[in-house]
Amino acid sequence: MHICYIIAMQAEAQPFIDAFHVKEQEGAFAPLPCRLYQTEAEVGKKLSIVTLGRQHDRDLVGCEAASVATLAAIEKLHPDLVINSGTCGAWARKGADIGKVYVADSVMFHDRRVPGDDAWDTQGLGNYPVWEHSGEVARKLSLETGKVTTGSSLDLQPCDEVIIEREGGELKDMEGAAVAFVCSLAGVPVMLIKSVTDLCDASASTLETFQKNLYQASEHLAEVNRKVVGLLLS
Ligand code: SAH
Repeated sequence: MHICYIIAMQAEAQPFIDAFHVKEQEGAFAPLPCRLYQTEAEVGKKLSIVTLGRQHDRDLVGCEAASVATLAAIEKLHPDLVINSGTCGAWARKGADIGKVYVADSVMFHDRRVPGDDAWDTQGLGNYPVWEHSGEVARKLSLETGKVTTGSSLDLQPCDEVIIEREGGELKDMEGAAVAFVCSLAGVPVMLIKSVTDLCDASASTLETFQKNLYQASEHLAEVNRKVVGLLLS
């Protein structure tokens, strides 16, 4: 099995890259900015980690960069499974805590309002399938499952919150649905594993909380991802 992780920020990916001693394949996606790290090929087992790369002197985040990286990775690497892993916001009143790691049981967009009819609404929200064994992985690693909703902004606007509440969203990120969208087109299964950096129902600033907790949440995420890889590639 060949697993390809798509991870937005270098800070989110670094503890995982360090744990597996994967090597950067420089220029693998040139001229695209996404970066490839790979294990030495073992018969029947392979791990690739793709980060989104940088532009404007910052790590790329968000749906566009995630879509580009996912399509490039699928076309170049032909993985059997894509895993989008990274940080997210969540709600304390729904049981979340900083650093808690979840596996997605569903994924959709929360900021694509497309007036028209039900079909346009359905396409806007997306609701893409996640890998059928996601729940089993969560159970085996004692992780909770939840619905990821994706938008292009770190902040939470009231109109997005209406959709998130209506649709039962629990984990808010900026890449998950974009990765799942590309995987749905390419027919590649996708699993999402997310670690909470900030609580959307806390009074503290999202950005400050995100920055304060990024390191801890990414370390915890790497521990979980080591177990996921152990489980799937053993
Ligand atoms: N300005 C930030 C950039 C991080 S953007 C910085 O200074 O580092 C946030 C990244 O973390 C995105 O990749 C997104 O997927 C994830 N994320 C964490 N918390 C989020 C939240 N509350 N809402 C949306 N995305 C969040």
